Amino acid sequence: MDRPLPADYHTHNVRCGHARGTIADYVHRAEEVGVREIACTDHLPIDDRFGVESRMPVAEFSAYLDEVQEAADAASLPVLLGVEADYYRGCEASLESMLNRHPFDVVLGSVHFRDYFSTDPIRRGVSDPDHPEALWNEYFTLVAELARTQLYDIVGHIDLPKRFGMSTDPALIERSAGKALDAIAEAGMAIEINTSGAIHPMQEVYPGLTLLRWARERDIPLTFGSDAHDPHRVGDGFADAVALAREAGYTDSACFRQRQRTLLPLPVLDQAPID
Ligand SMILES: [Zn+2]
Ligand SMILES: [Zn+2]
Repeated sequence: MDRPLPADYHTHNVRCGHARGTIADYVHRAEEVGVREIACTDHLPIDDRFGVESRMPVAEFSAYLDEVQEAADAASLPVLLGVEADYYRGCEASLESMLNRHPFDVVLGSVHFRDYFSTDPIRRGVSDPDHPEALWNEYFTLVAELARTQLYDIVGHIDLPKRFGMSTDPALIERSAGKALDAIAEAGMAIEINTSGAIHPMQEVYPGLTLLRWARERDIPLTFGSDAHDPHRVGDGFADAVALAREAGYTDSACFRQRQRTLLPLPVLDQAPID
């Protein structure tokens, strides 16, 4: 089968506790919609004392690894072993040890929380409508720190506070986003177009065109991710995302094997993929 869509490098599955479908279901859907490759990137557990409500327990991780391998053996397209790993201050030692123990193809790095261990939902969350500039500054400072750890390959949903209503007006984000992008470029990392933003309240992929252009100006490579928490979303919105990438000046996207990156030309899409 011809595979006109870029690889989907951001998918979850039922193990994380807030997604539907097994890894095999996601791989099957990837075959149906015609993405080039799929990376399984479920939330990485590194510490069961916190966050178990939104990720598999550490004890389940070896079963996850086996399940990805089984799905890869049965698939007609490349199935990559990945994870989405949180960045928070102090995570480095346990994260590095976990990453070194397993043969990952690709590691997404994401900031989901401002203060990962806070029990105050406002302090913990990534929204502060009364202080938007300070919120973005804090968020992008964490993204820059993530990049400087050199532990990850791709920054996930780089402007996530948008999900919670925070405006991405360039006047608010240009300075702080610029510093984060400089750190990402210096670390040799990629960013993703995460199409789940299109089904979230702001109805715009992460990141939007302006931030994507700033990334392109810095030669930061690009991947595509649906962030599917349901198999039907694999490859969702990718034709539009490719068009957006081209509009920002991109002509290729990044692929990973055993954490080594190569670039492939963006596909030429002259018709919409199947629903
Ligand atoms: Zn995420
Ligand atoms: Zn995700």
